[in-house]
Amino acid sequence: MQDFSFYNPTRIEFGPGKIAKIDKLVPKDAKVLILLGGESAKKNGTLDEVLAALGERDSQVFSGIEPNPSYETMMQAVAVVKQHKIDFLLAVGGGSVIDGTKFVAAAALYPDDAWQILVTGGKHIKQALPFGTVLTLPATGSEMNSGSVITNKSLQAKLPFGSSLLYPQFSILDPVKTYSLPQKQIANGVVDAFVHVMEQYLTYADDAPVQDRFAEGLLQTLIEIGPKALAEPENYQVRASLMWTATLALNGLIGAGVPQDWSTHMLGHELTAIHGLDHAQTLAIVLPEMLRQRKASKMTKLVQFAERVWHIEHGTDDEKAEAAIEKMRAFFESVGVATRLSDYQLGAEHIEPLIESLIKHNMVALGEHGDVTPDLCRSILQASL
Ligand code: NAP
Ligand code: FE
Repeated sequence: MQDFSFYNPTRIEFGPGKIAKIDKLVPKDAKVLILLGGESAKKNGTLDEVLAALGERDSQVFSGIEPNPSYETMMQAVAVVKQHKIDFLLAVGGGSVIDGTKFVAAAALYPDDAWQILVTGGKHIKQALPFGTVLTLPATGSEMNSGSVITNKSLQAKLPFGSSLLYPQFSILDPVKTYSLPQKQIANGVVDAFVHVMEQYLTYADDAPVQDRFAEGLLQTLIEIGPKALAEPENYQVRASLMWTATLALNGLIGAGVPQDWSTHMLGHELTAIHGLDHAQTLAIVLPEMLRQRKASKMTKLVQFAERVWHIEHGTDDEKAEAAIEKMRAFFESVGVATRLSDYQLGAEHIEPLIESLIKHNMVALGEHGDVTPDLCRSILQASL
């Protein structure tokens, strides 16, 4: 096991009706900006509950944060924060609203050009506004981590940043709020959470049995409940398990003390930035070939994944690894997330611009060994056609 530092200060309030806790969690004299996506939180009653919990507090709403939140939109929110001297942010939505809120929290107090936050990965963030979240979409783990991904539309760049100052103070997880999600978003959430676990688990063996078994437990839970979450949208226990699994997949716990990959996410971000695919769609395309083409360095963990997660008992190591990768692909397809570039009308002619963009963003030595080069990414995309 590697050395690590683990600190996660986010309070989780989990269960129906917990939105009322906002009254205890937000200072009475706070000037609050509620950040929203499109219409979903208004339609399913979440916003009304939030407003009721805030009571007499001075609050206003900023809505219109799009999926894959844009720098352009978030800078409008920063202007509102500055103009109205907002001192507490409340994100109500999925990963996009929460990521966007993290950017606003940092950018509102950033002394330089806020785009530099993305260019430098958040390294120079010295202060941030406090914020809480009300999660409506189980997927990203953003509700209990300190990372965020923002898209600059004019530059066609989707870049991550993070800072230990950007953990939500609290996150409210009410599984009932997920009942109104379209099937596609549940499927995306299952795949995103699955891939978050894989980025921290499927690297090289590093004598970390408890992290491995946590990871395998999360993967097996997703395999078991993913189809049920789609078939029975109002099954509380299933939605509750999905919500907590997605949070645990990326709150720092399973990644503490182990190598991490993240190359699938970085390549996936380019696909979203240029072609607008949903985040999870990009991951479902990239991960199978990412694992296949790096089989040699990942073989021990691939065999463990095959045996423990998919119960594949027979065959050579290579056969087990291949079978596990195909089982994973079939699982993504079974929840309705297609795994080929051609499924999204993308062809060979689209690959080179993606590689150029990867190079432009300096994503040239990705993965746990830093050996995922643009050439390897090209070959992975070709095999994913
Ligand atoms: P999302 O982009 O936040 O939301 C997708 C759609 O779901 C939106 O159209 C939204 O509609 C709708 N929606 C949300 N809650 C709903 C509900 N309860 N009922 C009905 N519709 C609802 O999706 P996401 O997958 O959570 O977030 C994706 C973003 O997070 C990407 O940009 C990705 O790169 C990023 N990400 C971040 C992390 C991290 O650690 N920070 C990790 C992975 C991915 P409305 O707009 O109308 O609300
Ligand atoms: Fe993700």
